[in-house]
Amino acid sequence: MNELLKTLTITKTTSPKAKPDPATLGFGEVFTDHMFILDFDEGRGWHDPVIVPYAPISLDPAAAVFHYAQEMFEGLKTYTSAEGGLRLFRPDMNAKRTNRTNERICIPQIDEDLYVDAVKALVEIDKDWVPDFPGTSLYIRPFIIATEPFLGVRPSNSFKFIIILSPVGPYYKGGLTPTKIYVEDNYVRSAEGLTGNAKIGGNYAISLKSQVEAHEKGYHQVLWLDGKERRYVEEIGTSNAFFVIDGEVYTAPLTGTILPGITRDSVLTILKDRGIPVHEERFTIEEVYKAADEGRLSEVFASGTAAVISPVGEMLWRDRRITIGGGDIGALSQELYDTITGIQSGRLPDTHGWTVKL
Ligand SMILES: *Cc1c(COP(=O)(O)O)cnc(C)c1O
Repeated sequence: MNELLKTLTITKTTSPKAKPDPATLGFGEVFTDHMFILDFDEGRGWHDPVIVPYAPISLDPAAAVFHYAQEMFEGLKTYTSAEGGLRLFRPDMNAKRTNRTNERICIPQIDEDLYVDAVKALVEIDKDWVPDFPGTSLYIRPFIIATEPFLGVRPSNSFKFIIILSPVGPYYKGGLTPTKIYVEDNYVRSAEGLTGNAKIGGNYAISLKSQVEAHEKGYHQVLWLDGKERRYVEEIGTSNAFFVIDGEVYTAPLTGTILPGITRDSVLTILKDRGIPVHEERFTIEEVYKAADEGRLSEVFASGTAAVISPVGEMLWRDRRITIGGGDIGALSQELYDTITGIQSGRLPDTHGWTVKL
């Protein structure tokens, strides 16, 4: 175990909450009995890890996070596995991505073993909260906030790293249902030199307006185009986007404007294992529509921790509406979903060593 985590103190709740009915779980609405907190202060570094009863935290109203949004977050899940125990999926990748995000918004680096060990320690305490019902899991939300009470504009010199847990239901209650996507032609979420590849709350705040307008038009999510020309395809909502054209898979490259998804990386690895050609390269929305018009676009899907694989059934760009796959999930989308969830739950062999048993 990590040295710092050997100093972990645990205070258990004296009033455990009633657990929700696993059949009615939504996403991120219910939280478990405990949370992990680690403090950072300039000169001391990260110190005093604790697990304490889940409760509101008290911060100075001048804390930097409230004013200049110096904040980052992560998301991963733990599953009840086929053999009964719990498994995490590639938690080392979340730790690495945290440090890349931290680097971008001037939050101090955090030891990656400490990070994974802290996740494990908290899950262990609240393991009775992992729902055991088809499609459910325990969502893990690590995040870091700037806590220094100071209104000047410079990086904070104190932070809190917190982990909370939330039992979540299946993303799609009635099985994988294709979504309707609005191609965003006005707002952008990212551009070269900006923070599109960092997992920060600020990226989400600036995307809300677009999401609200898309909902008003009857669409579930937006497809983001590049911030400069609004031509190149980037991401779908808060997940990575894939297009199957002539049996080959296309997705935007990691050039700094999109979030490097762990599910994206897993999808690409599985495709390469199967010998399916993949292209991580820039391509335009015109090319997607041309392929659709010519009957060469067979599937569109999004990838992310929450839904794993989310098939797209319809897209609207300006006044051009296309349907994909006739309202059904495509064969490749289904196969990727089954493969990734199969590895996560231990039903399929984990040939890449992606899962960590607890
Ligand atoms: C988190 C996130 C993703 C998906 O990443 P995963 O690691 O696969 O969950 C994609 N895009 C954005 C903008 C994200 O914030």
